[in-house]
Amino acid sequence: MIIAIDGPAASGKGTLGKRLAAHYGLAHLDTGLLYRAVAYELVQTGKPLTDEAGAVIAARKLDVDQLDDEKLRGAPMGEAASKVAAFPGVRAALVQLQRAFAARPEGAVLDGRDIGTVICPDADVKLFVTASAEERARRRHTELAGRGDPISYDEVLADIRARDDRDINRPASPLRQAGDATLLDTTKMDIDAAFRAAVAIVDAAA
Ligand code: C5P
Repeated sequence: MIIAIDGPAASGKGTLGKRLAAHYGLAHLDTGLLYRAVAYELVQTGKPLTDEAGAVIAARKLDVDQLDDEKLRGAPMGEAASKVAAFPGVRAALVQLQRAFAARPEGAVLDGRDIGTVICPDADVKLFVTASAEERARRRHTELAGRGDPISYDEVLADIRARDDRDINRPASPLRQAGDATLLDTTKMDIDAAFRAAVAIVDAAA
């Protein structure tokens, strides 16, 4: 079974992806980490985030088993990732790797922005997870503050709005709900309620 989860930043899709994968005994790929890793490689090698050729080379070199969660997390790398994610060449370089991950015999859970629309259009279940920008900013701010990040709520909200705008309005694989995806609005749900709602959607579709 392939479960495709898409949605904007801090909608809860990553946590849901992880929990759904554990629940159904499937592997999970947080595809945002791929774009974050491309941006990280550019920053580390002193290249600007506008260097499309450099970003494509970094994308081609990526290994899904070598993604270091800790150094890729955080608001600045998310913002940087959304810049390199707009390059069509970067997206093209990452398609096969994501499809290969999804092609394992038992299936997989993938979360991102274009999983149900571009990467796995034939997924068994598609979820579009969203929440209001204010609620997403509140969650992300709490998470970052817990890690000692001094960023303010207003800065997090501005970052989320800028990222939404970039992800929705880019020509290459923009963020949008697939026609056959089920909408899950988690604005008024805690993570347990969102998880129960997601399981109900998956069980009904599978
Ligand atoms: O999900 P996360 O916040 O880690 O994603 C970081 C950025 O990577 C997003 O803002 C988006 O621009 C990009 N991304 C994407 N397609 C995906 C996953 C992430 O364009 N499938």
